[in-house]
Amino acid sequence: MGYKSDIEIAQECVMKPITEIAQEAGISEEYLECYGKYKAKISDKLMDHMDRPNGKLVLVTAINPTPAGEGKTTTSIGLIDALSRLGKHPVGALREPSMGPVFGVKGGAAGGGYAQVVPMEDINLHFTGDMHAIGAANNLLAAMVDNSIQQGNPLNIDPRKVVWKRCVDMNDRQLRNVIDGLGTKLDGTPREDGFDITVASEVMAAFCLAKDLKDLKERLSKIIVGYTYGKLVDEQPVTAGDLGAAGAMTAILKDAIKPNLVQTLEHTPVIIHGGPFANIAHGCNSVIATRTALKLGDYAVTEAGFGCDLGAEKFLDIKCRMSGLKPNAVVIVATVRALKYNGGVAKADLNNENLEALEKGLPNLLKHVSNIKDVYHLPCVVAINAFPTDTKAELDLVEAKCKEIGVNVCLSEVWAKGGEGGLALAEEVVRLCEEDNSAFEFSYGLEGTIEEKLNAIVQKVYGGARAELTSNAKNQAKKLTAMGYENVPICMAKTQYSLTDDPKKLGAPKDFVVTVRNLKISAGAGFIVALTGDIMTMPGLPKHPAAMDIDVDENGKITGLF
Ligand code: ADP
Ligand code: MG
Repeated sequence: MGYKSDIEIAQECVMKPITEIAQEAGISEEYLECYGKYKAKISDKLMDHMDRPNGKLVLVTAINPTPAGEGKTTTSIGLIDALSRLGKHPVGALREPSMGPVFGVKGGAAGGGYAQVVPMEDINLHFTGDMHAIGAANNLLAAMVDNSIQQGNPLNIDPRKVVWKRCVDMNDRQLRNVIDGLGTKLDGTPREDGFDITVASEVMAAFCLAKDLKDLKERLSKIIVGYTYGKLVDEQPVTAGDLGAAGAMTAILKDAIKPNLVQTLEHTPVIIHGGPFANIAHGCNSVIATRTALKLGDYAVTEAGFGCDLGAEKFLDIKCRMSGLKPNAVVIVATVRALKYNGGVAKADLNNENLEALEKGLPNLLKHVSNIKDVYHLPCVVAINAFPTDTKAELDLVEAKCKEIGVNVCLSEVWAKGGEGGLALAEEVVRLCEEDNSAFEFSYGLEGTIEEKLNAIVQKVYGGARAELTSNAKNQAKKLTAMGYENVPICMAKTQYSLTDDPKKLGAPKDFVVTVRNLKISAGAGFIVALTGDIMTMPGLPKHPAAMDIDVDENGKITGLF
Protein backbone atom coordinates (compact mmCIF):
# COMPACT_ATOMS: atom_id res chain seq x y z
CA MET A 1 0.00 0.00 0.00
CA GLY A 2 2.28 2.74 -1.18
CA TYR A 3 5.23 1.30 0.74
CA LYS A 4 8.20 -0.01 -1.15
CA SER A 5 9.21 -3.54 -0.36
CA ASP A 6 12.48 -4.23 1.46
CA ILE A 7 14.13 -5.55 -1.69
CA GLU A 8 13.02 -2.53 -3.74
CA ILE A 9 14.54 -0.17 -1.17
CA ALA A 10 17.71 -2.26 -1.00
CA GLN A 11 18.11 -2.33 -4.79
CA GLU A 12 17.82 1.46 -4.98
CA CYS A 13 20.86 1.82 -2.75
CA VAL A 14 24.05 2.87 -4.52
CA MET A 15 26.53 0.83 -2.55
CA LYS A 16 30.07 1.96 -1.90
CA PRO A 17 32.85 -0.44 -2.86
CA ILE A 18 33.59 -2.65 0.13
CA THR A 19 37.24 -1.54 0.02
CA GLU A 20 36.06 1.97 0.86
CA ILE A 21 33.87 0.76 3.73
CA ALA A 22 36.83 -1.24 5.04
CA GLN A 23 39.12 1.74 4.85
CA GLU A 24 36.65 3.90 6.76
CA ALA A 25 36.40 1.14 9.37
CA GLY A 26 40.16 1.13 9.78
CA ILE A 27 40.85 -2.21 8.09
CA SER A 28 44.00 -1.99 6.02
CA GLU A 29 44.04 -3.70 2.64
CA GLU A 30 46.29 -6.56 3.66
CA TYR A 31 43.60 -7.81 6.07
CA LEU A 32 40.78 -7.66 3.54
CA GLU A 33 39.75 -10.53 1.27
CA CYS A 34 37.17 -9.32 -1.23
CA TYR A 35 34.29 -11.53 -2.36
CA GLY A 36 33.25 -9.46 -5.35
CA LYS A 37 32.77 -5.70 -5.04
CA TYR A 38 30.48 -5.42 -2.05
CA LYS A 39 31.40 -8.23 0.31
CA ALA A 40 34.69 -9.05 1.96
CA LYS A 41 36.13 -11.28 4.60
CA ILE A 42 38.31 -9.80 7.30
CA SER A 43 41.50 -11.70 8.04
CA ASP A 44 41.62 -13.39 11.42
CA LYS A 45 45.07 -11.86 11.80
CA LEU A 46 43.65 -8.34 11.93
CA MET A 47 42.94 -8.39 15.64
CA ASP A 48 46.50 -9.35 16.60
CA HIS A 49 47.66 -6.24 14.79
CA MET A 50 45.16 -3.70 16.06
CA ASP A 51 46.48 -1.61 18.88
CA ARG A 52 43.33 0.13 19.96
CA PRO A 53 41.06 -0.10 22.99
CA ASN A 54 37.75 -1.92 22.55
CA GLY A 55 34.62 0.10 21.83
CA LYS A 56 31.41 -0.08 23.84
CA LEU A 57 29.25 -3.17 23.45
CA VAL A 58 25.52 -2.65 22.87
CA LEU A 59 23.14 -5.63 22.89
CA VAL A 60 19.78 -5.40 21.13
CA THR A 61 17.09 -7.76 22.38
CA ALA A 62 13.28 -7.73 22.57
CA ILE A 63 10.09 -8.74 24.31
CA ASN A 64 8.75 -12.23 23.59
CA PRO A 65 8.17 -12.54 19.85
CA THR A 66 4.62 -12.43 18.53
CA PRO A 67 3.15 -12.88 15.04
CA ALA A 68 2.94 -9.06 15.00
CA GLY A 69 6.73 -8.82 14.58
CA GLU A 70 9.15 -6.84 16.74
CA GLY A 71 12.03 -5.74 14.54
CA LYS A 72 15.28 -6.41 16.42
CA THR A 73 17.44 -6.57 13.30
CA THR A 74 15.77 -3.49 11.83
CA THR A 75 16.30 -1.56 15.08
CA SER A 76 19.92 -2.74 15.37
CA ILE A 77 20.76 -1.57 11.87
CA GLY A 78 18.91 1.72 12.33
CA LEU A 79 20.76 2.29 15.59
CA ILE A 80 24.09 1.68 13.89
CA ASP A 81 23.22 4.27 11.23
CA ALA A 82 21.98 6.72 13.85
CA LEU A 83 25.19 6.37 15.86
CA SER A 84 27.08 7.00 12.68
CA ARG A 85 25.07 10.16 12.07
CA LEU A 86 26.11 11.31 15.54
CA GLY A 87 29.72 10.87 14.43
CA LYS A 88 30.31 7.91 16.74
CA HIS A 89 31.98 5.25 14.53
CA PRO A 90 29.80 2.22 15.18
CA VAL A 91 30.30 -1.24 13.69
CA GLY A 92 27.49 -3.78 13.65
CA ALA A 93 27.80 -7.49 14.39
CA LEU A 94 24.83 -9.52 13.19
CA ARG A 95 23.78 -13.07 12.41
CA GLU A 96 23.95 -14.65 8.99
CA PRO A 97 20.51 -15.56 7.60
CA SER A 98 19.68 -19.20 6.91
CA MET A 99 18.08 -20.03 3.56
CA GLY A 100 15.45 -22.23 5.24
CA PRO A 101 13.39 -19.32 6.62
CA VAL A 102 14.14 -17.16 3.54
CA PHE A 103 12.19 -19.62 1.37
CA GLY A 104 9.66 -20.41 4.09
CA VAL A 105 7.51 -17.98 6.09
CA LYS A 106 9.89 -15.50 7.66
CA GLY A 107 11.69 -14.24 4.59
CA GLY A 108 15.08 -12.57 4.83
CA ALA A 109 16.93 -11.37 7.88
CA ALA A 110 18.84 -8.35 6.67
CA GLY A 111 16.68 -5.70 8.37
CA GLY A 112 13.71 -3.90 6.89
CA GLY A 113 12.51 -0.65 5.34
CA TYR A 114 15.25 2.00 5.41
CA ALA A 115 17.28 0.07 7.97
CA GLN A 116 18.88 -2.74 6.00
CA VAL A 117 22.24 -4.26 5.22
CA VAL A 118 23.21 -4.69 1.58
CA PRO A 119 23.61 -6.47 -0.79
CA MET A 120 20.50 -7.96 0.84
CA GLU A 121 19.95 -10.63 -1.83
CA ASP A 122 23.46 -12.01 -1.36
CA ILE A 123 23.29 -11.83 2.42
CA ASN A 124 20.03 -13.78 2.36
CA LEU A 125 21.13 -16.32 -0.27
CA HIS A 126 24.32 -18.14 0.67
CA PHE A 127 26.37 -14.94 1.09
CA THR A 128 30.06 -15.93 1.19
CA GLY A 129 29.36 -19.64 1.54
CA ASP A 130 29.98 -19.96 5.29
CA MET A 131 26.73 -21.84 5.81
CA HIS A 132 27.68 -24.45 3.21
CA ALA A 133 31.12 -24.85 4.76
CA ILE A 134 29.52 -25.48 8.13
CA GLY A 135 27.16 -28.00 6.52
CA ALA A 136 30.12 -29.72 4.83
CA ALA A 137 32.05 -29.98 8.09
CA ASN A 138 28.95 -31.42 9.78
CA ASN A 139 28.43 -33.94 7.00
CA LEU A 140 32.07 -34.97 6.83
CA LEU A 141 31.75 -35.98 10.47
CA ALA A 142 28.51 -37.87 9.72
CA ALA A 143 30.20 -39.74 6.87
CA MET A 144 33.13 -40.62 9.14
CA VAL A 145 30.82 -41.96 11.86
CA ASP A 146 29.08 -44.38 9.52
CA ASN A 147 32.30 -45.27 7.78
CA SER A 148 33.86 -46.22 11.09
CA ILE A 149 30.91 -48.51 11.83
CA GLN A 150 31.26 -50.02 8.35
CA GLN A 151 35.02 -50.55 8.59
CA GLY A 152 34.96 -53.00 11.48
CA ASN A 153 33.68 -50.50 14.08
CA PRO A 154 36.95 -50.13 16.05
CA LEU A 155 35.36 -47.58 18.40
CA ASN A 156 32.51 -49.97 19.23
CA ILE A 157 29.84 -47.39 18.28
CA ASP A 158 26.30 -48.64 18.81
CA PRO A 159 24.51 -47.68 15.55
CA ARG A 160 21.30 -47.23 17.56
CA LYS A 161 23.01 -44.63 19.73
CA VAL A 162 24.46 -42.38 17.06
CA VAL A 163 23.34 -38.85 17.98
CA TRP A 164 25.07 -37.01 15.14
CA LYS A 165 22.75 -36.06 12.30
CA ARG A 166 23.35 -34.91 8.77
CA CYS A 167 22.34 -31.37 7.83
CA VAL A 168 21.30 -29.11 4.97
CA ASP A 169 20.51 -25.38 4.85
CA MET A 170 16.91 -25.77 3.74
CA ASN A 171 13.49 -26.25 5.37
CA ASP A 172 12.94 -29.86 4.30
CA ARG A 173 10.70 -31.84 6.62
CA GLN A 174 10.97 -34.89 4.37
CA LEU A 175 14.49 -35.39 5.68
CA ARG A 176 13.58 -35.05 9.35
CA ASN A 177 13.55 -38.82 9.85
CA VAL A 178 15.21 -41.14 7.35
CA ILE A 179 16.58 -44.64 7.14
CA ASP A 180 19.92 -44.73 5.40
CA GLY A 181 22.65 -47.26 4.73
CA LEU A 182 20.19 -49.45 2.79
CA GLY A 183 21.36 -51.88 0.13
CA THR A 184 24.00 -54.60 0.32
CA LYS A 185 26.65 -55.21 2.94
CA LEU A 186 28.92 -52.87 0.99
CA ASP A 187 26.41 -50.02 1.21
CA GLY A 188 26.70 -49.33 4.93
CA THR A 189 24.81 -50.31 8.07
CA PRO A 190 21.12 -49.49 7.83
CA ARG A 191 19.97 -47.30 10.67
CA GLU A 192 17.40 -44.70 11.59
CA ASP A 193 18.91 -41.27 10.96
CA GLY A 194 17.77 -37.73 10.29
CA PHE A 195 18.71 -34.28 9.07
CA ASP A 196 18.81 -30.97 10.94
CA ILE A 197 18.86 -27.57 9.32
CA THR A 198 22.50 -26.39 9.20
CA VAL A 199 21.98 -23.58 11.70
CA ALA A 200 20.91 -26.21 14.25
CA SER A 201 24.17 -28.15 13.85
CA GLU A 202 26.49 -28.15 16.84
CA VAL A 203 29.25 -27.20 14.39
CA MET A 204 27.48 -23.84 13.99
CA ALA A 205 27.28 -23.34 17.77
CA ALA A 206 30.94 -24.29 18.28
CA PHE A 207 31.95 -22.08 15.34
CA CYS A 208 30.18 -19.10 16.88
CA LEU A 209 31.71 -19.56 20.33
CA ALA A 210 35.26 -20.26 19.11
CA LYS A 211 37.94 -17.66 19.79
CA ASP A 212 40.05 -18.65 16.81
CA LEU A 213 40.88 -21.57 14.53
CA LYS A 214 42.77 -23.42 17.25
CA ASP A 215 39.91 -23.09 19.71
CA LEU A 216 37.50 -24.19 16.99
CA LYS A 217 39.50 -27.37 16.37
CA GLU A 218 39.50 -28.15 20.09
CA ARG A 219 35.76 -27.61 20.31
CA LEU A 220 35.03 -29.72 17.23
CA SER A 221 37.15 -32.57 18.56
CA LYS A 222 34.98 -32.68 21.71
CA ILE A 223 31.70 -33.11 19.81
CA ILE A 224 29.97 -36.30 20.91
CA VAL A 225 28.68 -38.27 17.93
CA GLY A 226 27.26 -41.29 19.73
CA TYR A 227 27.83 -43.86 22.43
CA THR A 228 29.37 -47.31 22.60
CA TYR A 229 27.43 -50.54 23.11
CA GLY A 230 26.48 -51.16 26.71
CA LYS A 231 24.04 -50.21 29.43
CA LEU A 232 23.53 -46.53 30.32
CA VAL A 233 26.08 -46.80 33.14
CA ASP A 234 28.75 -48.49 31.01
CA GLU A 235 28.39 -46.77 27.66
CA GLN A 236 31.14 -44.37 26.65
CA PRO A 237 30.80 -41.25 24.51
CA VAL A 238 32.51 -41.31 21.13
CA THR A 239 33.80 -37.97 19.89
CA ALA A 240 34.81 -36.35 16.63
CA GLY A 241 38.33 -36.38 18.07
CA ASP A 242 38.17 -40.17 18.56
CA LEU A 243 37.24 -40.49 14.88
CA GLY A 244 40.17 -38.30 13.82
CA ALA A 245 37.75 -35.88 12.15
CA ALA A 246 38.48 -32.57 13.88
CA GLY A 247 41.45 -31.53 11.76
CA ALA A 248 39.68 -32.01 8.43
CA MET A 249 36.49 -30.39 9.72
CA THR A 250 38.48 -27.34 10.79
CA ALA A 251 40.26 -27.29 7.44
CA ILE A 252 36.88 -27.02 5.70
CA LEU A 253 36.13 -24.00 7.93
CA LYS A 254 39.40 -22.11 7.54
CA ASP A 255 37.88 -19.37 5.40
CA ALA A 256 34.40 -19.48 6.90
CA ILE A 257 35.85 -18.49 10.27
CA LYS A 258 36.85 -15.08 8.91
CA PRO A 259 34.07 -12.56 9.56
CA ASN A 260 32.21 -10.97 6.63
CA LEU A 261 32.05 -7.23 6.06
CA VAL A 262 29.10 -5.48 4.39
CA GLN A 263 27.43 -2.06 4.67
CA THR A 264 24.08 -0.61 5.68
CA LEU A 265 21.97 1.44 3.25
CA GLU A 266 23.79 4.44 4.77
CA HIS A 267 27.23 2.87 4.29
CA THR A 268 28.00 2.06 7.92
CA PRO A 269 30.16 -1.07 8.33
CA VAL A 270 28.44 -4.23 9.58
CA ILE A 271 30.00 -7.62 10.21
CA ILE A 272 27.71 -10.57 9.50
CA HIS A 273 29.00 -13.89 10.71
CA GLY A 274 27.48 -17.09 12.06
CA GLY A 275 23.86 -17.73 12.90
CA PRO A 276 23.05 -20.53 15.33
CA PHE A 277 19.48 -21.49 16.21
CA ALA A 278 18.27 -19.65 19.30
CA ASN A 279 16.60 -22.72 20.83
CA ILE A 280 18.97 -25.71 20.83
CA ALA A 281 21.88 -23.29 20.46
CA HIS A 282 22.60 -19.82 21.80
CA GLY A 283 21.35 -17.66 18.92
CA CYS A 284 24.09 -15.02 18.53
CA ASN A 285 26.57 -14.15 15.80
CA SER A 286 30.15 -15.37 16.25
CA VAL A 287 32.36 -14.27 19.12
CA ILE A 288 34.96 -13.45 16.46
CA ALA A 289 32.54 -11.03 14.75
CA THR A 290 31.61 -9.30 18.01
CA ARG A 291 35.26 -8.99 19.03
CA THR A 292 36.23 -7.63 15.62
CA ALA A 293 33.40 -5.06 15.75
CA LEU A 294 34.56 -3.99 19.22
CA LYS A 295 38.13 -3.64 18.00
CA LEU A 296 37.15 -1.60 14.94
CA GLY A 297 34.34 0.55 16.26
CA ASP A 298 33.78 2.94 19.14
CA TYR A 299 30.43 1.17 19.48
CA ALA A 300 29.67 -2.43 18.54
CA VAL A 301 25.95 -3.10 18.15
CA THR A 302 24.88 -6.74 18.20
CA GLU A 303 21.61 -8.67 18.30
CA ALA A 304 20.51 -11.81 20.10
CA GLY A 305 17.75 -14.06 18.70
CA PHE A 306 14.16 -14.37 19.92
CA GLY A 307 13.17 -12.48 23.10
CA CYS A 308 15.15 -11.36 26.10
CA ASP A 309 14.39 -14.56 28.06
CA LEU A 310 16.12 -16.76 25.46
CA GLY A 311 18.37 -14.58 23.30
CA ALA A 312 19.69 -12.11 25.84
CA GLU A 313 19.85 -14.73 28.60
CA LYS A 314 22.06 -16.93 26.44
CA PHE A 315 24.06 -14.00 25.10
CA LEU A 316 24.84 -12.96 28.67
CA ASP A 317 25.04 -16.31 30.46
CA ILE A 318 26.74 -18.31 27.70
CA LYS A 319 28.44 -16.11 25.13
CA CYS A 320 29.65 -13.38 27.49
CA ARG A 321 30.73 -15.93 30.09
CA MET A 322 32.73 -17.96 27.58
CA SER A 323 34.33 -15.00 25.83
CA GLY A 324 34.70 -12.42 28.60
CA LEU A 325 32.53 -9.90 26.75
CA LYS A 326 30.60 -7.42 28.85
CA PRO A 327 27.84 -5.24 27.43
CA ASN A 328 27.76 -1.54 28.24
CA ALA A 329 24.11 -1.09 27.36
CA VAL A 330 21.09 -3.15 26.36
CA VAL A 331 18.29 -2.05 24.03
CA ILE A 332 14.96 -3.82 24.52
CA VAL A 333 12.79 -3.59 21.41
CA ALA A 334 9.02 -3.66 21.64
CA THR A 335 6.15 -2.63 19.44
CA VAL A 336 2.82 -1.32 20.61
CA ARG A 337 1.21 -3.98 18.41
CA ALA A 338 3.12 -6.83 20.00
CA LEU A 339 2.33 -5.53 23.48
CA LYS A 340 -1.37 -5.41 22.62
CA TYR A 341 -1.06 -8.98 21.31
CA ASN A 342 0.45 -9.92 24.67
CA GLY A 343 -2.60 -8.31 26.22
CA GLY A 344 -4.89 -10.68 24.35
CA VAL A 345 -5.79 -8.79 21.15
CA ALA A 346 -6.18 -10.95 18.02
CA LYS A 347 -3.69 -10.30 15.21
CA ALA A 348 -6.40 -8.88 12.93
CA ASP A 349 -7.38 -6.21 15.48
CA LEU A 350 -3.92 -4.89 16.30
CA ASN A 351 -4.36 -1.74 14.22
CA ASN A 352 -7.01 -0.31 16.57
CA GLU A 353 -6.13 1.71 19.63
CA ASN A 354 -6.64 -0.41 22.74
CA LEU A 355 -5.18 1.01 25.94
CA GLU A 356 -6.69 -1.67 28.10
CA ALA A 357 -5.02 -4.49 26.16
CA LEU A 358 -1.79 -2.52 26.03
CA GLU A 359 -1.81 -2.17 29.79
CA LYS A 360 -2.44 -5.89 30.11
CA GLY A 361 0.44 -6.75 27.77
CA LEU A 362 2.94 -4.30 29.25
CA PRO A 363 4.09 -6.61 32.09
CA ASN A 364 5.85 -8.70 29.46
CA LEU A 365 8.07 -5.75 28.56
CA LEU A 366 8.48 -4.71 32.19
CA LYS A 367 9.63 -8.20 33.19
CA HIS A 368 12.37 -8.16 30.53
CA VAL A 369 13.42 -4.67 31.57
CA SER A 370 13.66 -5.66 35.20
CA ASN A 371 15.70 -8.74 34.25
CA ILE A 372 18.30 -6.61 32.51
CA LYS A 373 18.35 -4.08 35.36
CA ASP A 374 17.95 -6.23 38.44
CA VAL A 375 19.24 -9.68 37.44
CA TYR A 376 22.11 -8.73 35.13
CA HIS A 377 22.63 -5.18 36.48
CA LEU A 378 23.11 -3.58 33.08
CA PRO A 379 21.97 -0.15 31.86
CA CYS A 380 19.05 -0.43 29.44
CA VAL A 381 16.61 1.50 27.30
CA VAL A 382 13.33 0.49 25.67
CA ALA A 383 13.06 1.15 21.92
CA ILE A 384 9.54 1.30 20.57
CA ASN A 385 9.75 0.26 16.94
CA ALA A 386 7.16 2.62 15.50
CA PHE A 387 4.26 1.53 13.30
CA PRO A 388 1.93 4.05 11.60
CA THR A 389 -1.00 2.65 13.60
CA ASP A 390 0.52 3.52 17.03
CA THR A 391 -1.43 6.30 18.77
CA LYS A 392 -0.03 9.02 21.02
CA ALA A 393 -2.07 7.75 23.98
CA GLU A 394 -0.57 4.27 23.52
CA LEU A 395 2.99 5.55 23.28
CA ASP A 396 2.47 7.76 26.35
CA LEU A 397 1.23 4.78 28.34
CA VAL A 398 4.33 2.69 27.50
CA GLU A 399 6.56 5.60 28.43
CA ALA A 400 4.78 6.20 31.74
CA LYS A 401 4.97 2.55 32.80
CA CYS A 402 8.67 2.30 31.97
CA LYS A 403 9.38 5.57 33.78
CA GLU A 404 7.89 4.03 36.91
CA ILE A 405 10.69 1.45 36.92
CA GLY A 406 13.33 3.98 35.96
CA VAL A 407 13.90 3.20 32.30
CA ASN A 408 13.68 5.61 29.39
CA VAL A 409 11.70 4.88 26.26
CA CYS A 410 12.76 6.05 22.81
CA LEU A 411 10.59 5.95 19.75
CA SER A 412 12.51 4.37 16.89
CA GLU A 413 11.42 5.29 13.37
CA VAL A 414 14.34 3.69 11.57
CA TRP A 415 12.17 1.40 9.44
CA ALA A 416 10.53 4.46 7.85
CA LYS A 417 13.40 6.95 8.07
CA GLY A 418 16.72 5.10 8.38
CA GLY A 419 19.35 6.42 10.80
CA GLU A 420 17.54 9.77 11.03
CA GLY A 421 14.69 7.96 12.76
CA GLY A 422 16.97 6.54 15.44
CA LEU A 423 18.80 9.62 16.70
CA ALA A 424 16.97 9.80 20.03
CA LEU A 425 17.69 6.12 20.66
CA ALA A 426 21.33 6.56 19.68
CA GLU A 427 21.73 9.50 22.06
CA GLU A 428 20.27 7.48 24.92
CA VAL A 429 22.55 4.54 24.07
CA VAL A 430 25.58 6.83 24.12
CA ARG A 431 24.46 8.17 27.50
CA LEU A 432 23.94 4.66 28.91
CA CYS A 433 27.37 3.56 27.70
CA GLU A 434 28.90 6.14 30.03
CA GLU A 435 27.10 4.55 32.98
CA ASP A 436 28.74 2.01 35.25
CA ASN A 437 28.34 -1.61 34.11
CA SER A 438 30.75 -3.09 36.64
CA ALA A 439 27.92 -4.70 38.63
CA PHE A 440 27.15 -7.03 35.70
CA GLU A 441 26.59 -10.59 36.84
CA PHE A 442 25.28 -13.82 35.34
CA SER A 443 21.86 -15.15 36.30
CA TYR A 444 23.48 -18.32 37.65
CA GLY A 445 26.92 -19.54 38.67
CA LEU A 446 28.54 -22.65 37.21
CA GLU A 447 29.05 -24.31 40.57
CA GLY A 448 26.19 -26.38 41.97
CA THR A 449 23.99 -28.98 40.34
CA ILE A 450 22.33 -28.90 36.93
CA GLU A 451 18.95 -28.64 38.69
CA GLU A 452 20.11 -25.60 40.64
CA LYS A 453 21.13 -23.83 37.46
CA LEU A 454 17.82 -24.67 35.80
CA ASN A 455 15.94 -23.36 38.82
CA ALA A 456 17.91 -20.13 38.80
CA ILE A 457 17.00 -19.45 35.17
CA VAL A 458 13.33 -20.30 35.66
CA GLN A 459 13.00 -18.27 38.85
CA LYS A 460 15.12 -15.25 38.05
CA VAL A 461 14.74 -14.84 34.30
CA TYR A 462 11.32 -16.35 33.56
CA GLY A 463 9.64 -15.38 36.83
CA GLY A 464 8.44 -18.96 37.45
CA ALA A 465 8.32 -21.12 40.57
CA ARG A 466 10.80 -23.83 39.62
CA ALA A 467 12.07 -26.25 36.99
CA GLU A 468 10.71 -29.76 37.17
CA LEU A 469 12.67 -32.57 35.58
CA THR A 470 10.90 -35.60 34.13
CA SER A 471 12.35 -38.92 35.32
CA ASN A 472 14.05 -39.19 31.94
CA ALA A 473 15.70 -35.79 32.44
CA LYS A 474 16.69 -36.70 36.00
CA ASN A 475 18.53 -39.78 34.71
CA GLN A 476 20.24 -37.69 32.07
CA ALA A 477 21.29 -35.15 34.71
CA LYS A 478 22.85 -37.98 36.72
CA LYS A 479 24.61 -39.33 33.67
CA LEU A 480 25.92 -35.91 32.60
CA THR A 481 27.15 -35.25 36.11
CA ALA A 482 28.98 -38.59 36.10
CA MET A 483 30.49 -37.67 32.72
CA GLY A 484 31.91 -34.50 34.28
CA TYR A 485 29.53 -32.00 32.72
CA GLU A 486 27.91 -30.65 35.87
CA ASN A 487 29.54 -27.24 35.77
CA VAL A 488 28.88 -26.02 32.24
CA PRO A 489 26.35 -23.35 31.21
CA ILE A 490 22.80 -24.35 30.32
CA CYS A 491 21.31 -23.61 26.92
CA MET A 492 17.54 -23.47 27.34
CA ALA A 493 15.46 -24.79 24.45
CA LYS A 494 12.05 -23.32 25.16
CA THR A 495 9.22 -21.78 23.18
CA GLN A 496 10.13 -18.21 22.23
CA TYR A 497 6.55 -16.99 22.52
CA SER A 498 6.16 -17.12 26.27
CA LEU A 499 8.16 -16.67 29.43
CA THR A 500 6.80 -20.11 30.36
CA ASP A 501 7.14 -23.39 28.43
CA ASP A 502 3.62 -22.96 27.05
CA PRO A 503 3.47 -20.76 23.91
CA LYS A 504 -0.11 -19.73 24.74
CA LYS A 505 0.69 -18.11 28.10
CA LEU A 506 1.40 -14.52 27.12
CA GLY A 507 2.18 -11.46 29.25
CA ALA A 508 4.20 -12.11 32.40
CA PRO A 509 2.77 -15.17 34.17
CA LYS A 510 3.86 -16.11 37.70
CA ASP A 511 4.14 -19.27 39.82
CA PHE A 512 4.44 -21.57 36.83
CA VAL A 513 6.56 -24.70 36.58
CA VAL A 514 8.83 -25.30 33.59
CA THR A 515 9.11 -28.98 32.70
CA VAL A 516 12.51 -30.10 31.46
CA ARG A 517 12.07 -33.26 29.39
CA ASN A 518 15.50 -33.83 28.02
CA LEU A 519 19.09 -32.87 28.81
CA LYS A 520 21.70 -33.22 26.13
CA ILE A 521 25.35 -32.29 26.17
CA SER A 522 26.76 -30.22 23.30
CA ALA A 523 30.33 -30.83 24.36
CA GLY A 524 31.86 -28.95 21.43
CA ALA A 525 29.77 -25.88 22.04
CA GLY A 526 30.39 -26.35 25.76
CA PHE A 527 26.85 -26.28 27.12
CA ILE A 528 24.03 -28.57 28.21
CA VAL A 529 20.87 -28.16 26.15
CA ALA A 530 17.74 -28.35 28.30
CA LEU A 531 14.71 -29.19 26.18
CA THR A 532 11.38 -28.13 27.62
CA GLY A 533 9.21 -29.39 24.78
CA ASP A 534 9.50 -30.68 21.25
CA ILE A 535 12.05 -28.43 19.62
CA MET A 536 12.06 -28.51 15.87
CA THR A 537 15.58 -28.83 14.48
CA MET A 538 14.42 -29.26 10.88
CA PRO A 539 11.59 -26.85 9.98
CA GLY A 540 9.16 -27.48 7.15
CA LEU A 541 7.80 -25.18 4.44
CA PRO A 542 4.31 -23.65 4.66
CA LYS A 543 1.52 -24.29 2.16
CA HIS A 544 2.59 -21.26 0.15
CA PRO A 545 6.37 -21.03 0.61
CA ALA A 546 8.02 -17.64 0.04
CA ALA A 547 10.06 -19.47 -2.61
CA MET A 548 7.02 -19.46 -4.93
CA ASP A 549 7.21 -15.65 -5.16
CA ILE A 550 10.97 -15.32 -5.63
CA ASP A 551 12.29 -14.92 -9.14
CA VAL A 552 15.31 -13.67 -11.05
CA ASP A 553 15.41 -12.01 -14.47
CA GLU A 554 17.87 -12.54 -17.31
CA ASN A 555 20.17 -9.89 -15.82
CA GLY A 556 20.33 -11.59 -12.45
CA LYS A 557 18.01 -9.11 -10.76
CA ILE A 558 16.10 -10.85 -7.98
CA THR A 559 12.49 -10.05 -7.07
CA GLY A 560 10.08 -11.22 -4.39
CA LEU A 561 12.63 -11.72 -1.66
CA PHE A 562 11.49 -9.96 1.50
P1 ADP B 1 13.53 -9.56 14.17
O1 ADP B 1 14.98 -9.28 14.00
O2 ADP B 1 13.02 -9.17 15.52
O3 ADP B 1 13.12 -10.93 13.78
P2 ADP B 1 13.21 -7.87 11.85
O4 ADP B 1 13.94 -6.62 12.15
O5 ADP B 1 13.90 -8.86 10.96
O6 ADP B 1 12.73 -8.58 13.17
O7 ADP B 1 11.81 -7.44 11.22
C1 ADP B 1 10.87 -8.39 10.79
C2 ADP B 1 10.06 -7.82 9.64
O8 ADP B 1 9.24 -6.76 10.10
C3 ADP B 1 10.91 -7.25 8.52
O9 ADP B 1 10.43 -7.73 7.29
C4 ADP B 1 10.73 -5.76 8.60
O10 ADP B 1 10.74 -5.15 7.33
C5 ADP B 1 9.38 -5.62 9.29
N1 ADP B 1 9.36 -4.41 10.13
C6 ADP B 1 10.21 -4.13 11.13
N2 ADP B 1 9.92 -2.94 11.70
C7 ADP B 1 8.85 -2.46 11.04
C8 ADP B 1 8.08 -1.24 11.14
N3 ADP B 1 8.36 -0.32 12.06
N4 ADP B 1 7.05 -1.08 10.30
C9 ADP B 1 6.76 -2.01 9.37
N5 ADP B 1 7.45 -3.17 9.21
C10 ADP B 1 8.49 -3.40 10.02
MG1 MG C 1 16.52 -10.62 13.55
